Amino acid sequence: MHRFMSCRLLACEDETVIGDGAVVVDGDLIAWIGCAEDLPKEYAGEDVGVTDVGGATVMPGLIDTHMHISFGEPQSEEELYFYTPSPYRAIRAAANAEKVLLAGVTSACDPGGPVGVAAAVRDAVDAGLIQGPRFSAAGRQITSQQGIGDTLPRWINIEESSFGALVTTKDELLNEIRNEVKDGVDLIKIAGSGPGTTEWGAFRLEELELAVDEAHRLGRPLAIHARSRQSAADAVAAGVDWIMHASYMDLPTLDLAIEKGIPFVPAMTLLVNSLESGTMAAAAKDAMQRELDAAVSILSKAYQQGATLVAGSESGFAMTPYGEWHTREMELFVSYLGMSDMRAILCMTRDAAVAAPRDSDKIGTLSPGKYADLLVVDGRPDQDVRILSDRSRLTSVVKGGAEVATWRPTDKPASRMAFEKSRPYVDDAYRRGSK
Ligand SMILES: [Zn+2]
Repeated sequence: MHRFMSCRLLACEDETVIGDGAVVVDGDLIAWIGCAEDLPKEYAGEDVGVTDVGGATVMPGLIDTHMHISFGEPQSEEELYFYTPSPYRAIRAAANAEKVLLAGVTSACDPGGPVGVAAAVRDAVDAGLIQGPRFSAAGRQITSQQGIGDTLPRWINIEESSFGALVTTKDELLNEIRNEVKDGVDLIKIAGSGPGTTEWGAFRLEELELAVDEAHRLGRPLAIHARSRQSAADAVAAGVDWIMHASYMDLPTLDLAIEKGIPFVPAMTLLVNSLESGTMAAAAKDAMQRELDAAVSILSKAYQQGATLVAGSESGFAMTPYGEWHTREMELFVSYLGMSDMRAILCMTRDAAVAAPRDSDKIGTLSPGKYADLLVVDGRPDQDVRILSDRSRLTSVVKGGAEVATWRPTDKPASRMAFEKSRPYVDDAYRRGSK
C-alpha cells in the first residue's frame, strides 16, 4: 500500500479542486481519496509507503480516445497504405506506445488500423512485454467505396496493408464485424464518410442500423468516422456509440444526438496541426480551413447545449507524432469552443472513459476501486491546461500504482526506413534554366 500526500487534487468526478488531498493506492487500484485531514487511520500507519508531492497537482492519467498506434507517422496516404511490412509495423507501434504513455496518456483508444496491430500492442502492454497505455482496439475500419479506408483508385487492389476493410454488401458487412469480434477487437469502427464531400455518407442508413445492431448483439460498441452532414445524421439516427469529427453536422442532428446522449470526439488537433505544419498543398489547406470553421461553429453550439465532447488527438500522422500532441485537443476546446481549462480536462478524463470501452468503468477519475493511473503535475493545469503539454512539468506518470520509468531513450526520433517513405523522384519539376 502507498499514499500520495500534500496533493492539490483533481479527482475529475467534477470540477472540484481539493487543496490538501491524499490518495491511497493498494496494488494497482485506488483504495481511498480525499482531504488529507480525513485520511482514515488504517491508511495513516508507518507500514504504508509515502510520497509527498509537495503541493503538486495530482490528477487522473489522460485518455486519448482517438489515436492510431499502427500508422507510424506517415507523411502521405501511400506511406500509410503501402510498403511497410506488417511485422515492422507492429514493432514500430510497440516502441511508439511508450512515447504515448510517457506523455501522460495512461489509456487510449485506437479506432482502426491494419492487420490487428492495435490489438497486438494492447495485449503486449497487458502482458508486460512493453510499456504503453491501456488500449481499447478496433480492427480495420469498415468502409464502402465512399469511405476513408478505400480512397485509392479501383485499379489498386489493397488488402491487408490497408486500414480499411471494404464491404460491398450487407452480408459482407455482417461478416467483417463477426471476423473482427473473433479477432478480439474492443469496438467496431465504421468509416462513415470519405474525401470529396461534405454532404453525403459512405453507407445508407439501413446499413448503419444493421452494423450497430450486429456490433451491439456481439457486445461491442460501434464508433463512426463521420465528417459529412448525412453521415453524422444517419449515425445519430442509427444510434452509434460515439461520433468522430462531426464537422458538417446539422442542427437537427445535434439536437437528436444530445437527446440520445451520443458523445463527439472532434479531433480538431489534426486539422489545426495540418494547417500549421506548412507542408500541405494550398487546395488541401483551404479544405481543412473550411472544415475547421464548420467544426468550430457546430461544436461550439454542441458544447453550449450540453453535448458530451471528448478529447482525442489523432496522433499517429506526421502532423501528430506520438507523444507530442495528445493534450492539444483540450487546448483547442478552450480556445475554440469556449471551455474553461478545468472543463476541458474532464473531456480527457471523466468524459473520455466511454470512448475507451474496454476499461470504461476503471479509468477517467480518481475514485476508490478504479485503476491507480495518475499524473503528478508541477503547476495548475485546471487553470492553464497547456501545462500538460510541457513534459518537464509532468513530474511523474503512475500507471496501475507503479511509476512509469523510461526504459530506453525515446527523446531522439528513430531513423526512417526506406519502405516507410513515399517515393518521389524529385521535389519539383526540373525546368530548363532553373539551375
Ligand atoms: Zn482517426
